Amino acid sequence: MSIFSELKTPGPTVIALTSPFWRAAGEGRLLIQRCEDCGEAVFYPRALCPHCWSKRLKWEEASGRGTLRSFSVVHKPGHPGWLPAVPYVVGLVHLDEGPTMTSFILADGEPRVGDPVALEPTDIGGRILPAFRVKPSSRST
Ligand SMILES: [Zn+2]
Repeated sequence: MSIFSELKTPGPTVIALTSPFWRAAGEGRLLIQRCEDCGEAVFYPRALCPHCWSKRLKWEEASGRGTLRSFSVVHKPGHPGWLPAVPYVVGLVHLDEGPTMTSFILADGEPRVGDPVALEPTDIGGRILPAFRVKPSSRST
């Protein structure tokens, strides 16, 4: 049990297009789409490939590995349900497959841009959601 599982936060808005992503997330898996015509990986979930406009997007499981591209330490959350968890980190993760996703970041201390991160599904408000943990062994200084 962590402080995150006790939060009273709103859940994701699930629509038909995104339901495979959220169903897998609840099972601790990270799904992205891949275009069957141009081969590019795609996130967030879409009906059309943003690279070639193909409709032939298929779900696949991502490696869960990536690099922290940017982050923010949140002291004043946008929803009061997050207040017990402040300060917490939200960041942009550049997935090894190519796309960038915004995610909750788990870090011991303040992370650095460029740090490697790994998927760590986390109970937030009673739902298993994708989060990424900064790998501390990666620190060069
Ligand atoms: Zn494409």
